[in-house]
Amino acid sequence: MKVAFFSTKSYDRDFFTVANYDREHDLVFFEPRLDHHTVRLAKGYPAICTFVNDKLDDVTLEILALQGTRLIALRCAGFNQVDLKAAARLNIQVVRVPAYSPYAVAEHTIGLMLTLNRKIHRAYNRVREGNFSLDGLIGFDLHNRTVGIIGTGKIGQIVAQILKGFGCQIMAYDMFPSPACIEMGVNYVDLPKLLSHADIITLHCPLTPETHHLIDRTAIDRMKSGVMLINTSRGALIDTAVVIESLKSRKIGALGLDVYEQESELFFEDLSDRIIQDDIFERLVTFPNVLITAHQAFFTTEAMQDIAETTLTNITEIATNQLCANIVSHINK
Ligand code: NAD
Repeated sequence: MKVAFFSTKSYDRDFFTVANYDREHDLVFFEPRLDHHTVRLAKGYPAICTFVNDKLDDVTLEILALQGTRLIALRCAGFNQVDLKAAARLNIQVVRVPAYSPYAVAEHTIGLMLTLNRKIHRAYNRVREGNFSLDGLIGFDLHNRTVGIIGTGKIGQIVAQILKGFGCQIMAYDMFPSPACIEMGVNYVDLPKLLSHADIITLHCPLTPETHHLIDRTAIDRMKSGVMLINTSRGALIDTAVVIESLKSRKIGALGLDVYEQESELFFEDLSDRIIQDDIFERLVTFPNVLITAHQAFFTTEAMQDIAETTLTNITEIATNQLCANIVSHINK
């Protein structure tokens, strides 16, 4: 099948070219992000392959349909960036990669927690500058601390498993408690209880209309003073402006982000010689107790191999009219 890839970097080309070796799809890699300005690049391609920040809104989908695209292969798990109702109306199928090394994201989440707690990001800079002082670097034992996990699907479950190894008490909130988590002693509670009891809160639920700004003023008011908040899920789960106020008042003691609501304007590009215009983001990076990575939690060799394999299998299955387990529709959303 002829497939136009959007938002590609050299690593996408490398992993997909290897995974395509035996499959022989006709892959073309475009660097621009997909939106209604760049969609014309997809003309003549029955399939396109997109990533987290490509914009698959009604307008872009209309043009894709007019140009003959019938399949959108998302090379990611989340599908909040796609107008699924419009895709269904336009007879465009959407497939995704529901699972790829959940260890990658879970381990990165723990990395953010450990770094923020023991101030490793600050210690790294200090030691390089010959400053061996420990002032301001004190952390706390994770052992016996309460961690609240919101969303115990594939990633949240592994986060729980790793934290159990540290001797943490785990509280979780999910409408569908996981038997594996219950078995390992995770305590399921309602959201207000989790928010008010946890020393660390980590988000692992999808972005949906219900979870948009799940962490808002009311939620933060419920939290313990000095709480650590980690988000490796989707930026818009958090109301960033309110979080900044809470960092200023020290209600939030540490913030670790791998995702950011307006990340599509920033992430995955080298903007180091530009003036960043996003004042909210720029304020965030001034805090010593805020650590931001640019949506890299998924970025391990294992995850990239899984993503390329599953994406190309999805495309083959659709191209050859086989059953594909990874179709996303607005009905199963
Ligand atoms: P999953 O579908 O296996 O699990 C999601 C869990 O969230 C489910 O158990 C579901 O019941 C629960 N949930 C849904 N709505 C909820 C709500 N309102 N409150 C509490 N729980 C709720 O998904 P996953 O594979 O564990 O991934 C979780 C999220 O991680 C994805 O949605 C995606 O946004 C994000 N993600 C980020 C990266 C990254 O690189 N940063 C990579 C992959 C996935």
